[in-house]
Amino acid sequence: MKVGVLALQGAFAAHQSRLASLDVAAPAVRVPADLDGLDGVVLPGGESTTMSRLLITSGLHEPLRAAINAGLATFGTCAGMILCATDVHDGRADQVGFDQIDMTVQRNGYGRQLDSFEADLDVAGLDAPFHAVFIRAPLVERAGDDVEVLARHEGRPVLLRDRRCTVAAFHPELTDDARLHEQFVAAI
Ligand code: GLN
Repeated sequence: MKVGVLALQGAFAAHQSRLASLDVAAPAVRVPADLDGLDGVVLPGGESTTMSRLLITSGLHEPLRAAINAGLATFGTCAGMILCATDVHDGRADQVGFDQIDMTVQRNGYGRQLDSFEADLDVAGLDAPFHAVFIRAPLVERAGDDVEVLARHEGRPVLLRDRRCTVAAFHPELTDDARLHEQFVAAI
């Protein structure tokens, strides 16, 4: 099993360690050749506008989009969620992504007073709550009818899935709890 971690910017190292702890090879993805032989890809948190720019300059945007469209299992967290959404509010006009999940997200939508917060979430398929760390998280304003909502926080979806793409508004790599990575890997 080989799950690449997009490593252009942001919190990629913690995802690599988490996957390694599950005995999954987790090579960094920085150039198109790094996509060869992957079973899945993680799009980490960070800054989606910067990641967007680096996706273009690295030449990764088109081949990674093609791979995801062809069914590469994808786990996007925080900025990675923004990259997977079809509609982004308060992004840059030229921001690119992968258009995988029919949803509208507002960047930094939880506002300044809640720039960072933590919450225990009830997650579909897990029998005990998941402690979630949100950092300048995207707020999900809308999710399409075909999108599965796996967890909510105060009524808003924060963990969603559509086909082989799962997205989290929070950072599951920043706590000790490996269950969401385990779920992702188990479904590949
Ligand atoms: N606010 C960031 C963005 O818009 C996302 C924050 C994060 O990934 N922790 O890309």
